[in-house]
Amino acid sequence: MTKQITCTDAHCALHGSVKTHGRTFVGTVIESKMQRTATVEWPRTRYIHKYERTATERSRVKAHNPDCLNAKKGDLVKIQESRPLSKTKTFVILEILGQNRSFMAREELLEEAKQKTEKKPAEKIAAEAAQ
Ligand SMILES: [Zn+2]
Repeated sequence: MTKQITCTDAHCALHGSVKTHGRTFVGTVIESKMQRTATVEWPRTRYIHKYERTATERSRVKAHNPDCLNAKKGDLVKIQESRPLSKTKTFVILEILGQNRSFMAREELLEEAKQKTEKKPAEKIAAEAAQ
């Protein structure tokens, strides 16, 4: 709670001077390595008339990640439109709603798969050295 009082972020929706308006979305933070910026993604369905079926598409925007919230990868966040804060940033994170567990599980599986592929060459080298 003390963090909220010491928030000096000028672009913070709660403590700064940025007003939010327009559309609100709930999405998952997929990347938060940038300074005070997070990439937020959420699914949407679109009806394709030719095939008479719906297709799942993804929207991906950059949103301002204020110091007092500091959303991390995998967080479920509520974002709202604001004035352009930078060249590509026109959204602000309003609150963290929780964690997207299915996203985190998928990320863990991907990392495990990466580690497996990285280990293989080392094992081959060891096997060759043993022979
Ligand atoms: Zn703040």
